[in-house]
Amino acid sequence: MTEVEAILDGLKRGERLTLEQALVLYKEADLLTLAEAARRKKEEKTGKNVYFNVNRHINLTNICVSECPFCAFSCKEEDKQAYILEVEDVERIVQKTMQSMPDLTEVHMVSALHPKKTFDYYIDVVRAVKKHLPNVHLKAFTPVEIVHFAKIANLSIEEVLTRLHEAGLDSLPGGGAEILDDTIRKEICPDKATTAEWITVMKTAHKLGILTNATMLYGHIETIEQRLQHLFTLRDIQDETGGFQAFVSFPFHPKNTKFEGIRPSTSWENLRMIAMARLILDNFDHIKAFWMMLTMPVAQLSLAFGVDDLDGTVGQERIIHAAGAATKTGTTKEEITRIVAETGYQAVERDTFYQPITKG
Ligand code: SF4
Repeated sequence: MTEVEAILDGLKRGERLTLEQALVLYKEADLLTLAEAARRKKEEKTGKNVYFNVNRHINLTNICVSECPFCAFSCKEEDKQAYILEVEDVERIVQKTMQSMPDLTEVHMVSALHPKKTFDYYIDVVRAVKKHLPNVHLKAFTPVEIVHFAKIANLSIEEVLTRLHEAGLDSLPGGGAEILDDTIRKEICPDKATTAEWITVMKTAHKLGILTNATMLYGHIETIEQRLQHLFTLRDIQDETGGFQAFVSFPFHPKNTKFEGIRPSTSWENLRMIAMARLILDNFDHIKAFWMMLTMPVAQLSLAFGVDDLDGTVGQERIIHAAGAATKTGTTKEEITRIVAETGYQAVERDTFYQPITKG
C-alpha cells in the first residue's frame, strides 16, 4: 500500500489528517483521487445538496489607510477612482435593492479602512441597512475592519462587536485572513491586523454568539506548508469555538498589485486546494466556492472536489474585479440552479444560516 493509500484509508475510518499527511496528499495524490475523497466527505455532511443564497454585496469605500502591496482595490482620497458611500447613499442602494431583488436574504458588506470615518459612521450604516431591510441578514466587516474600528474608537474588540451586534450586525464574513502567518503578512499586508488579532476577533465573535466564515488568500508568496498550516489553524479554532459556518478559499489575482509578476494559480491547483480544505477541515460543515474568483465553469467543477456552497447571486462586486477578475459581477438563481443540476446535485436556496428557503 502506498503512503497516499494508507492516508486515504485512515480518512475513510474517520481519522483526522496531520500536517505531515496533508503535505503528502497535496504533493503526491493525483487530482481525481483527491476529488473522490473530498466528494465523499462532502456527501457525508450535506448529501446531494449544493447551497446558494440571494445576496447583494456593498463595498462602502475603497479609500484606505493601509497600502497592502497585494491589494488592487484600495486607493488614496485624491485618486480619481476614490469613492465613499455616505449613509444616505447606502439607504438609497438598499431601497433600490428592495425593489429589484425581492428575494434578497443577505447583504454582504466589506470595505477598505477609511482614514476619516468614525466608528459612529459604521454604526449608522448598520442601522440604515436594518431600518430598510429588517428581515435581511447583515453579514459585514472583516476582522481587519473590526481591529481598525477598535483602534479609531479606542474600544476593545469585544466592545466593538457588541455595539455592532446591538445595532443590527448579524454575522461576520471572515475575510482578511490571507495566510495566518506573520512572516507572510509582513510582506503582503504589513499594516493590517496580525494573525493573533484576526484570531482574537473570530474567537470573540464566536463567544458572543456571532457566527462567521473563514477564508484564505493563497497563491502569492506563501509555501504549500504555510497554506496547509493555515487550514490547521482554522481547524484548531473551530475545535475550540464551533463558530465557523463555512470556509472559502480565494486564489490570488496578481493584476494591478505590487505582485504582478507572480503566475496566478492554475484551475487544477485551485481544485486541489479546495479538495485539501474539505479533507482537513473535518469540523466545518460547508466549503464554499466563490464563483467570481474561480469562474463559473471551475466553480461547477469544484462540486466534484468537495464544495457544497456556491455563495450567492452577489448583485455587484468591486474588490475582486479591481484585481482583474474577468467574471460577471452578479448572476441569477436560475443560472446557479442550472449549473448545479448539470452535475447531478440539487441546488438549495438557503439563508445565511443554511436553512432552506421555503416559498409559500
Ligand atoms: S487589503 Fe484591505 S486594508 Fe489592505 S489596502 Fe486593501 S483595502 Fe486596505
